[in-house]
Amino acid sequence: MQTLTSESSSLILEKWEKRPIIISGPCSAETEEQMVTTAQQLAATGKVDILRAGIWKPRTKPGMFEGIGAKGLPWLQQAKKLTGLPTTVEVATGKQVQDALTFDVDMLWIGARTTVNPFSVQEVADALRGVDIPVLIKNPINPDLELWSGAVERVARAGISRIGLIHRGFSSYGNTEFRNAPMWHLAIEMKRRNPGMLMINDPSHICGRRDILSDVAQKAIDLDFDGLMIESHMDPDKAWSDAKQQVTPARLAEMIDEIKWRMEDVSSETFHAALDKLREQINHIDDELMDLLAQRMRIAEKIGEYKRNNSVTILQTNRWNQILDKSFHKADKLGLSREFVTRYLDAVHMESINRQNNVMNN
Ligand code: PEP
Ligand code: MN
Repeated sequence: MQTLTSESSSLILEKWEKRPIIISGPCSAETEEQMVTTAQQLAATGKVDILRAGIWKPRTKPGMFEGIGAKGLPWLQQAKKLTGLPTTVEVATGKQVQDALTFDVDMLWIGARTTVNPFSVQEVADALRGVDIPVLIKNPINPDLELWSGAVERVARAGISRIGLIHRGFSSYGNTEFRNAPMWHLAIEMKRRNPGMLMINDPSHICGRRDILSDVAQKAIDLDFDGLMIESHMDPDKAWSDAKQQVTPARLAEMIDEIKWRMEDVSSETFHAALDKLREQINHIDDELMDLLAQRMRIAEKIGEYKRNNSVTILQTNRWNQILDKSFHKADKLGLSREFVTRYLDAVHMESINRQNNVMNN
Protein backbone atom coordinates (compact mmCIF):
# COMPACT_ATOMS: atom_id res chain seq x y z
CA MET A 1 0.00 0.00 0.00
CA GLN A 2 1.18 3.49 -0.76
CA THR A 3 1.04 6.24 1.80
CA LEU A 4 1.84 9.89 1.43
CA THR A 5 5.30 11.00 2.37
CA SER A 6 5.21 12.90 5.65
CA GLU A 7 6.31 16.04 3.83
CA SER A 8 3.44 16.22 1.39
CA SER A 9 0.97 15.14 4.00
CA SER A 10 1.86 18.06 6.28
CA LEU A 11 1.61 20.42 3.30
CA ILE A 12 -1.99 19.41 2.69
CA LEU A 13 -2.94 19.01 6.35
CA GLU A 14 -2.10 22.62 7.08
CA LYS A 15 -4.33 23.74 4.20
CA TRP A 16 -7.09 21.32 5.20
CA GLU A 17 -7.66 23.30 8.39
CA LYS A 18 -7.48 26.74 6.77
CA ARG A 19 -10.66 28.82 6.24
CA PRO A 20 -11.55 29.93 3.67
CA ILE A 21 -9.71 27.31 1.66
CA ILE A 22 -9.10 28.36 -1.96
CA ILE A 23 -8.43 25.74 -4.63
CA SER A 24 -7.56 26.92 -8.11
CA GLY A 25 -5.90 25.82 -11.30
CA PRO A 26 -6.82 24.97 -14.86
CA CYS A 27 -9.80 22.81 -15.80
CA SER A 28 -7.24 20.60 -17.58
CA ALA A 29 -3.50 20.26 -17.61
CA GLU A 30 -2.68 20.83 -21.30
CA THR A 31 1.07 21.31 -21.63
CA GLU A 32 3.92 21.54 -19.14
CA GLU A 33 4.34 25.22 -19.93
CA GLN A 34 0.63 25.98 -19.40
CA MET A 35 0.51 23.98 -16.17
CA VAL A 36 3.67 25.39 -14.62
CA THR A 37 3.12 29.01 -15.69
CA THR A 38 -0.50 29.01 -14.52
CA ALA A 39 0.60 27.53 -11.19
CA GLN A 40 3.33 30.12 -10.75
CA GLN A 41 0.97 32.98 -11.54
CA LEU A 42 -1.58 31.60 -9.09
CA ALA A 43 1.04 31.17 -6.37
CA ALA A 44 2.26 34.72 -6.95
CA THR A 45 -1.18 36.09 -6.04
CA GLY A 46 -0.75 34.64 -2.56
CA LYS A 47 -4.47 33.81 -2.54
CA VAL A 48 -4.42 30.16 -3.50
CA ASP A 49 -3.99 27.26 -1.07
CA ILE A 50 -4.21 24.21 -3.30
CA LEU A 51 -3.47 23.72 -6.98
CA ARG A 52 -6.01 21.80 -9.06
CA ALA A 53 -5.77 20.30 -12.55
CA GLY A 54 -7.85 17.85 -14.52
CA ILE A 55 -5.64 15.04 -15.86
CA TRP A 56 -8.39 12.65 -16.95
CA LYS A 57 -11.51 14.46 -18.17
CA PRO A 58 -14.83 12.63 -18.38
CA ARG A 59 -16.55 14.69 -21.06
CA THR A 60 -20.21 14.63 -21.93
CA LYS A 61 -19.53 14.18 -25.67
CA PRO A 62 -16.79 12.17 -27.43
CA GLY A 63 -14.34 14.25 -29.44
CA MET A 64 -14.00 16.83 -26.70
CA PHE A 65 -10.59 17.01 -25.02
CA GLU A 66 -10.50 14.02 -22.69
CA GLY A 67 -7.45 15.00 -20.69
CA ILE A 68 -3.73 14.66 -21.21
CA GLY A 69 -3.58 11.55 -19.04
CA ALA A 70 -0.81 10.34 -16.72
CA LYS A 71 1.86 12.16 -18.69
CA GLY A 72 0.56 15.40 -17.14
CA LEU A 73 1.25 14.19 -13.60
CA PRO A 74 5.00 15.05 -13.65
CA TRP A 75 4.05 18.60 -14.76
CA LEU A 76 1.89 18.92 -11.67
CA GLN A 77 4.73 17.56 -9.58
CA GLN A 78 6.99 20.20 -11.08
CA ALA A 79 4.39 22.92 -10.41
CA LYS A 80 4.26 21.83 -6.77
CA LYS A 81 8.05 21.89 -6.52
CA LEU A 82 8.26 25.40 -7.93
CA THR A 83 5.36 26.91 -5.96
CA GLY A 84 5.23 24.92 -2.74
CA LEU A 85 1.49 24.45 -3.26
CA PRO A 86 -0.10 21.05 -2.61
CA THR A 87 -1.97 19.54 -5.57
CA THR A 88 -5.27 17.87 -6.27
CA VAL A 89 -6.64 15.96 -9.28
CA GLU A 90 -9.88 14.24 -10.22
CA VAL A 91 -9.88 10.44 -10.14
CA ALA A 92 -12.50 8.13 -11.59
CA THR A 93 -10.84 4.70 -11.59
CA GLY A 94 -8.57 2.61 -9.37
CA LYS A 95 -5.72 2.98 -11.86
CA GLN A 96 -6.02 6.76 -11.77
CA VAL A 97 -5.80 6.68 -7.97
CA GLN A 98 -2.60 4.63 -8.22
CA ASP A 99 -1.09 6.94 -10.85
CA ALA A 100 -1.94 10.06 -8.85
CA LEU A 101 -0.37 8.59 -5.71
CA THR A 102 2.75 7.59 -7.62
CA PHE A 103 3.25 11.23 -8.57
CA ASP A 104 2.65 12.56 -5.04
CA VAL A 105 -0.69 14.24 -5.63
CA ASP A 106 -1.73 15.53 -2.18
CA MET A 107 -5.51 15.36 -2.38
CA LEU A 108 -7.99 13.65 -4.72
CA TRP A 109 -11.46 14.55 -5.83
CA ILE A 110 -14.27 12.48 -7.28
CA GLY A 111 -16.05 14.28 -10.13
CA ALA A 112 -19.77 14.74 -10.62
CA ARG A 113 -19.92 12.19 -13.43
CA THR A 114 -18.30 9.61 -11.16
CA THR A 115 -20.33 10.28 -8.03
CA VAL A 116 -23.46 9.23 -9.96
CA ASN A 117 -22.08 5.73 -10.43
CA PRO A 118 -21.77 3.51 -7.33
CA PHE A 119 -19.59 0.99 -9.24
CA SER A 120 -17.04 3.67 -10.06
CA VAL A 121 -17.13 5.21 -6.61
CA GLN A 122 -16.60 1.76 -5.09
CA GLU A 123 -13.65 1.12 -7.40
CA VAL A 124 -12.05 4.40 -6.34
CA ALA A 125 -12.82 3.67 -2.68
CA ASP A 126 -11.24 0.19 -2.95
CA ALA A 127 -8.08 1.71 -4.42
CA LEU A 128 -7.96 4.13 -1.49
CA ARG A 129 -7.97 1.42 1.17
CA GLY A 130 -4.98 1.89 3.45
CA VAL A 131 -4.03 5.24 1.91
CA ASP A 132 -3.94 8.41 4.00
CA ILE A 133 -5.08 11.18 1.68
CA PRO A 134 -7.91 13.72 1.84
CA VAL A 135 -10.71 13.17 -0.70
CA LEU A 136 -13.28 15.68 -1.90
CA ILE A 137 -16.54 14.39 -3.34
CA LYS A 138 -18.45 16.48 -5.84
CA ASN A 139 -22.22 16.32 -5.87
CA PRO A 140 -23.64 13.94 -8.49
CA ILE A 141 -24.86 15.47 -11.76
CA ASN A 142 -28.46 14.77 -10.80
CA PRO A 143 -30.06 16.29 -7.70
CA ASP A 144 -29.93 13.18 -5.54
CA LEU A 145 -28.63 13.57 -2.00
CA GLU A 146 -28.71 9.83 -1.34
CA LEU A 147 -26.27 9.25 -4.20
CA TRP A 148 -23.99 11.98 -2.83
CA SER A 149 -24.24 10.55 0.71
CA GLY A 150 -23.67 7.03 -0.61
CA ALA A 151 -20.39 8.12 -2.21
CA VAL A 152 -19.31 9.71 1.08
CA GLU A 153 -20.12 6.46 2.90
CA ARG A 154 -18.20 4.30 0.43
CA VAL A 155 -15.10 6.47 0.74
CA ALA A 156 -15.45 6.64 4.54
CA ARG A 157 -15.77 2.85 4.75
CA ALA A 158 -12.51 2.51 2.84
CA GLY A 159 -10.90 4.17 5.85
CA ILE A 160 -10.48 7.72 4.50
CA SER A 161 -10.85 10.06 7.46
CA ARG A 162 -10.57 13.43 5.73
CA ILE A 163 -13.55 13.78 3.43
CA GLY A 164 -14.85 17.03 2.01
CA LEU A 165 -17.77 17.95 -0.24
CA ILE A 166 -17.83 20.08 -3.37
CA HIS A 167 -21.08 21.68 -4.48
CA ARG A 168 -20.86 22.15 -8.28
CA GLY A 169 -24.54 22.43 -9.12
CA PHE A 170 -26.98 20.01 -10.74
CA SER A 171 -27.94 19.30 -14.28
CA SER A 172 -31.46 20.44 -15.12
CA TYR A 173 -33.42 20.24 -18.32
CA GLY A 174 -33.67 23.38 -20.44
CA ASN A 175 -31.50 26.44 -20.58
CA THR A 176 -31.10 28.46 -17.45
CA GLU A 177 -28.79 31.21 -16.40
CA PHE A 178 -26.47 28.51 -15.09
CA ARG A 179 -24.62 25.62 -16.66
CA ASN A 180 -25.60 23.62 -13.58
CA ALA A 181 -28.41 24.86 -11.37
CA PRO A 182 -27.05 25.52 -7.89
CA MET A 183 -30.12 24.24 -6.01
CA TRP A 184 -28.64 25.72 -2.85
CA HIS A 185 -31.13 23.96 -0.61
CA LEU A 186 -29.54 20.61 -1.49
CA ALA A 187 -26.07 21.77 -0.51
CA ILE A 188 -27.49 23.24 2.70
CA GLU A 189 -29.23 19.95 3.50
CA MET A 190 -26.00 18.05 2.80
CA LYS A 191 -24.17 20.39 5.18
CA ARG A 192 -26.83 19.79 7.81
CA ARG A 193 -26.49 16.03 7.44
CA ASN A 194 -22.69 16.16 7.69
CA PRO A 195 -21.91 18.72 10.35
CA GLY A 196 -18.27 19.72 10.42
CA MET A 197 -17.50 18.20 7.02
CA LEU A 198 -15.56 20.55 4.75
CA MET A 199 -17.95 22.07 2.17
CA ILE A 200 -16.48 23.82 -0.85
CA ASN A 201 -18.37 25.64 -3.59
CA ASP A 202 -17.34 25.34 -7.25
CA PRO A 203 -18.80 28.41 -8.95
CA SER A 204 -16.97 27.61 -12.21
CA HIS A 205 -19.06 24.54 -13.03
CA ILE A 206 -22.25 26.09 -11.67
CA CYS A 207 -21.91 29.20 -13.84
CA GLY A 208 -20.23 27.87 -16.98
CA ARG A 209 -19.30 31.51 -17.72
CA ARG A 210 -17.08 34.15 -16.21
CA ASP A 211 -19.46 37.05 -15.69
CA ILE A 212 -21.51 35.57 -12.85
CA LEU A 213 -18.75 33.68 -10.99
CA SER A 214 -18.41 36.38 -8.33
CA ASP A 215 -22.11 36.40 -7.48
CA VAL A 216 -22.20 32.66 -6.95
CA ALA A 217 -18.96 32.66 -4.96
CA GLN A 218 -20.31 35.45 -2.74
CA LYS A 219 -23.53 33.58 -2.17
CA ALA A 220 -21.62 30.47 -1.12
CA ILE A 221 -19.56 32.46 1.35
CA ASP A 222 -22.73 34.07 2.71
CA LEU A 223 -24.10 30.56 3.21
CA ASP A 224 -21.05 29.70 5.32
CA PHE A 225 -19.25 27.44 2.85
CA ASP A 226 -15.67 26.66 3.90
CA GLY A 227 -14.03 27.62 0.63
CA LEU A 228 -14.05 27.78 -3.15
CA MET A 229 -12.71 25.80 -6.08
CA ILE A 230 -12.39 28.10 -9.09
CA GLU A 231 -10.85 27.23 -12.44
CA SER A 232 -8.02 29.47 -13.59
CA HIS A 233 -5.90 29.36 -16.73
CA MET A 234 -3.02 31.55 -17.96
CA ASP A 235 -4.93 32.12 -21.21
CA PRO A 236 -8.58 31.18 -20.57
CA ASP A 237 -9.90 31.80 -24.08
CA LYS A 238 -7.44 29.29 -25.46
CA ALA A 239 -8.22 26.61 -22.85
CA TRP A 240 -8.79 23.12 -24.25
CA SER A 241 -11.78 22.58 -21.95
CA ASP A 242 -14.27 24.87 -20.20
CA ALA A 243 -12.77 27.98 -21.84
CA LYS A 244 -15.78 30.19 -21.12
CA GLN A 245 -15.70 29.72 -17.38
CA GLN A 246 -11.98 30.03 -16.65
CA VAL A 247 -10.34 33.24 -15.45
CA THR A 248 -6.75 34.42 -15.44
CA PRO A 249 -4.85 34.17 -12.16
CA ALA A 250 -4.95 37.99 -11.94
CA ARG A 251 -8.73 38.02 -12.27
CA LEU A 252 -9.00 35.23 -9.72
CA ALA A 253 -7.06 37.32 -7.23
CA GLU A 254 -9.36 40.30 -7.87
CA MET A 255 -12.43 38.13 -7.34
CA ILE A 256 -11.11 36.80 -4.05
CA ASP A 257 -10.39 40.36 -2.94
CA GLU A 258 -13.88 41.55 -3.89
CA ILE A 259 -15.67 38.87 -1.90
CA LYS A 260 -17.09 40.10 1.39
CA TRP A 261 -15.84 37.59 3.88
CA ARG A 262 -18.65 38.10 6.33
CA MET A 263 -17.24 35.48 8.63
CA GLU A 264 -14.80 38.09 9.89
CA ASP A 265 -17.35 39.88 12.09
CA VAL A 266 -18.90 36.85 13.73
CA SER A 267 -16.76 37.16 16.78
CA SER A 268 -18.16 40.56 17.70
CA GLU A 269 -20.45 40.39 20.70
CA THR A 270 -23.00 42.95 19.53
CA PHE A 271 -23.44 40.95 16.35
CA HIS A 272 -24.18 37.80 18.34
CA ALA A 273 -26.51 39.61 20.69
CA ALA A 274 -28.50 41.10 17.81
CA LEU A 275 -28.66 37.77 16.04
CA ASP A 276 -29.83 35.99 19.21
CA LYS A 277 -32.60 38.53 19.64
CA LEU A 278 -33.85 38.08 16.10
CA ARG A 279 -33.65 34.31 16.42
CA GLU A 280 -35.65 34.51 19.63
CA GLN A 281 -38.37 36.39 17.73
CA ILE A 282 -38.37 33.77 14.99
CA ASN A 283 -38.69 31.02 17.60
CA HIS A 284 -41.72 32.74 19.12
CA ILE A 285 -43.39 33.17 15.79
CA ASP A 286 -42.67 29.55 14.80
CA ASP A 287 -44.20 28.44 18.08
CA GLU A 288 -47.32 30.44 17.47
CA LEU A 289 -47.57 29.18 13.90
CA MET A 290 -47.43 25.59 15.20
CA ASP A 291 -50.20 26.27 17.71
CA LEU A 292 -52.31 27.88 15.04
CA LEU A 293 -51.77 25.01 12.64
CA ALA A 294 -52.76 22.52 15.32
CA GLN A 295 -55.91 24.53 16.00
CA ARG A 296 -56.68 24.65 12.31
CA MET A 297 -56.36 20.86 12.07
CA ARG A 298 -58.69 20.34 15.03
CA ILE A 299 -61.30 22.48 13.30
CA ALA A 300 -60.78 20.52 10.08
CA GLU A 301 -61.50 17.34 12.03
CA LYS A 302 -64.72 18.87 13.39
CA ILE A 303 -65.75 19.68 9.83
CA GLY A 304 -64.93 16.07 8.96
CA GLU A 305 -67.31 14.81 11.63
CA TYR A 306 -69.96 17.16 10.38
CA LYS A 307 -69.50 16.06 6.78
CA ARG A 308 -69.60 12.41 7.85
CA ASN A 309 -72.86 12.90 9.71
CA ASN A 310 -74.37 14.64 6.71
CA SER A 311 -72.80 12.42 3.99
CA VAL A 312 -70.94 15.21 2.19
CA THR A 313 -67.66 14.67 0.19
CA ILE A 314 -64.39 15.80 1.76
CA LEU A 315 -63.16 17.95 -1.12
CA GLN A 316 -65.42 20.73 -2.15
CA THR A 317 -63.70 22.47 -5.01
CA ASN A 318 -65.58 25.73 -4.72
CA ARG A 319 -64.58 26.17 -1.14
CA TRP A 320 -60.93 25.44 -1.95
CA ASN A 321 -60.95 27.95 -4.81
CA GLN A 322 -62.33 30.56 -2.43
CA ILE A 323 -59.51 29.91 0.03
CA LEU A 324 -56.91 30.20 -2.74
CA ASP A 325 -58.37 33.44 -4.09
CA LYS A 326 -58.60 35.03 -0.70
CA SER A 327 -55.09 33.93 0.23
CA PHE A 328 -53.51 35.17 -3.00
CA HIS A 329 -55.17 38.52 -2.55
CA LYS A 330 -53.79 38.81 0.95
CA ALA A 331 -50.39 37.41 -0.04
CA ASP A 332 -50.03 40.05 -2.74
CA LYS A 333 -50.77 42.78 -0.24
CA LEU A 334 -48.31 41.38 2.30
CA GLY A 335 -45.53 40.80 -0.20
CA LEU A 336 -45.54 37.00 0.09
CA SER A 337 -44.84 35.26 -3.20
CA ARG A 338 -47.64 33.27 -4.77
CA GLU A 339 -45.29 30.36 -5.23
CA PHE A 340 -44.59 30.20 -1.51
CA VAL A 341 -48.23 30.66 -0.52
CA THR A 342 -49.30 27.95 -2.96
CA ARG A 343 -46.80 25.49 -1.52
CA TYR A 344 -47.83 26.36 2.01
CA LEU A 345 -51.55 26.05 1.32
CA ASP A 346 -51.09 22.79 -0.56
CA ALA A 347 -49.28 21.27 2.41
CA VAL A 348 -51.92 22.51 4.86
CA HIS A 349 -54.72 21.34 2.61
CA MET A 350 -53.25 17.85 2.22
CA GLU A 351 -52.91 17.49 5.97
CA SER A 352 -56.50 18.69 6.48
CA ILE A 353 -57.80 16.18 3.95
CA ASN A 354 -55.88 13.38 5.68
CA ARG A 355 -57.36 14.36 9.04
CA GLN A 356 -60.87 14.52 7.62
CA ASN A 357 -60.33 11.24 5.85
CA ASN A 358 -59.43 9.59 9.16
CA VAL A 359 -62.52 11.02 10.84
CA MET A 360 -64.85 9.99 8.03
CA ASN A 361 -63.54 6.47 7.58
CA ASN A 362 -62.97 5.47 11.19
C1 PEP B 1 -13.82 19.71 -13.24
O1 PEP B 1 -13.68 20.05 -12.06
O2 PEP B 1 -13.09 20.09 -14.17
C2 PEP B 1 -14.96 18.85 -13.59
C3 PEP B 1 -14.96 18.03 -14.61
O3 PEP B 1 -16.00 19.09 -12.79
P1 PEP B 1 -17.40 18.32 -12.58
O4 PEP B 1 -17.05 16.93 -12.13
O5 PEP B 1 -18.02 19.15 -11.52
O6 PEP B 1 -18.13 18.38 -13.88
MN1 MN C 1 -13.84 22.05 -15.85
